[in-house]
Parts: sequence; structure tokens; C-alpha cells
Amino acid sequence: MRGALGGGPRLFIKRDDCTGLATGGNKTRKLEFLLADAIGAGAELVVTQGAVQSNHVRQTAAAAAKAGLGCVALLERRVDGRDPSYETTGNVLLDDVLGARVEFLPGGTDMNAAARERARSLTDGGTRAYFIPGGGSNEIGALGYMRCADELAGQCAELGIGPDWVVHATGSAGTQAGLVAGMVALGGRAHVLGASVRHPRELQQEVVADLANRTLAHAGLGERVAAGDILVDDGFVGPGYGVPTAATLEAIRLLARHEGVLLDPVYSGKGFACLVSRIRAGEFPEGDTVVFVHTGGAASLFAYEADLAG
Ligand SMILES: *Cc1c(COP(=O)(O)O)cnc(C)c1O
Repeated sequence: MRGALGGGPRLFIKRDDCTGLATGGNKTRKLEFLLADAIGAGAELVVTQGAVQSNHVRQTAAAAAKAGLGCVALLERRVDGRDPSYETTGNVLLDDVLGARVEFLPGGTDMNAAARERARSLTDGGTRAYFIPGGGSNEIGALGYMRCADELAGQCAELGIGPDWVVHATGSAGTQAGLVAGMVALGGRAHVLGASVRHPRELQQEVVADLANRTLAHAGLGERVAAGDILVDDGFVGPGYGVPTAATLEAIRLLARHEGVLLDPVYSGKGFACLVSRIRAGEFPEGDTVVFVHTGGAASLFAYEADLAG
């Protein structure tokens, strides 16, 4: 792989695409804490939301099934101009197999408000429902990535490596917020770089810092971070959320054909494209160690057949 990139830093992959639940992914770490809270609150059912090909919804459906809870998921038609199969294959197919009840809503809907309202009305109707925000990104879910920072530090110590950089795709912000909070809590020196898949840099920096601070407070810690200290690259979003670019598709093929590892067209492919571009530009000093956090998502590859074929 390093040969194909013309040298550069030592590169490791943290395989959070192998977290175990129904094809894996980063939401599983958040759901470990969110489902515990739901069970503690006596919930019979969870209500969440995401875009049509949401990996978060698929992992929530799996976690709920395993915990013996029902799952209602609202899916936003956020990506325009896709083939009709976009709403039946990939993650949507798995949502159904996993027993979730899904419902499609128009693009632009305030999805967290809609899901919170649905949970309230189900509870009022006699079924105790627990609301999980999009991406599982609140101060409870982000604890999963604080713990991941600790796990990563331990694994790196075992291997005797830095790391100098941690790179991953950032969307609803819980992953980066948790990693940053964890680094701050551990006194780690690695830079955590999020490749945005949706928002412009400054907005994403603010959202990540706000959630990192709420997570630190929730964990009972006094440290705080500033938005200006959050590292975000918004150069790989392309035309918008859920729309892969030529660089995304190249990154997917590159990692598949050199390492046999599958990325996805919405998140991890954009995150890895960002990393590849920075390596090619010589932005990491030779001898630096970079850990790419593979956040999963390959289940959505099948919904992007037309983009990837040929
Ligand atoms: C949700 C998701 C992300 C982004 O993580 P956030 O915590 O929402 O920022 C990255 N990669 C994949 C595959 C995802 O499903």
C-alpha cells in the first residue's frame, strides 16, 4: 500500500468496520452506551433516524434486536437523483432483515425533532420508547469513542508506535468528539483529523467541539476544547452528502485492491480519499505514524452499484 502511495508515513488501520454487529461500523461503540441507558430507562423500543442508506440505523436495528427491544427508524430522503433500488438494497434491506420498522420522510425534514416526537407519542400511547439521535451522537454515545481513544492508546503502546495522527470520516460528530475528548482526558498528543462528509469546516469544528465538551462534562472531567483546535478537512465532500466523487471511488478501489479492505461511498471512502491526497502531497513527514479509523459502511456499496460498476 505504501508503495502505491509513493512512500509517506507508516499507516495503520483501526478496524472499526469489524465491531461485530450486522456488518459492523462505528455506531456500535456508541450503541453500547445508548442501549444501556435505554434499558436502564425501562424502554421497550428505540426510535432513531438517519439518511436512507444510514449505517447508524442498521446498527441500531441490530443492537435493539440483540437487546430484545423494538426499533422504529425514520429515514430522510437526503440524497437526490438515485435509482429506485437505493430505497430497497444495501442498509435498507438489512434494516428490514433485522426487524426494524422504517419510514421514509422528505429531504430537509428536521429529523431529530421528528424522531423525538415519534418516541414521545409512542410512549404516550403506552409503549415506552427511547429516542436515539442521528448517528447516536450525543454525550452518551460519544463515550464509546472516548473509550476507543483509550483502547487505541493501549494498542499503540503495545506496538510501540506513536501515533502522530488519527484520521477518519466525520458526519454527525460523535466519533471525532469522543476521540478528541478521549485524547484530552488521556493527555495524548495525536492530532485527530476529521474528513467532513457533509458540513463546511467551521460548522463541523463547532459541532465537534460542542459535543466533545458536553462529553467531557458528562464524564465528570473539567477539561474543555475550543472549536479552533478541532481539525477538519472539508475538501472531500464533493457535490454533497451521499454523493461519491472520483476521488472517493479511487480510494475505495485502492484500499480494496491493495489490502482487501472495503470502504464505503458515503463516509470511509471520503475519509480515506482525504488521507491519500495528503500523503501524496507529502503533508506527513516521513517517519510519522498515521492511524486511519475505518468506521465501516461497506453495506451501502450495493446501493452504489451504478457509481462503482465498470
Ligand atoms: C456515521 C458514520 C461516520 C461518521 O461518524 P460520526 O460519528 O457520525 O461523525 C463515518 N463512517 C461511517 C461508515 C459512518 O456510518
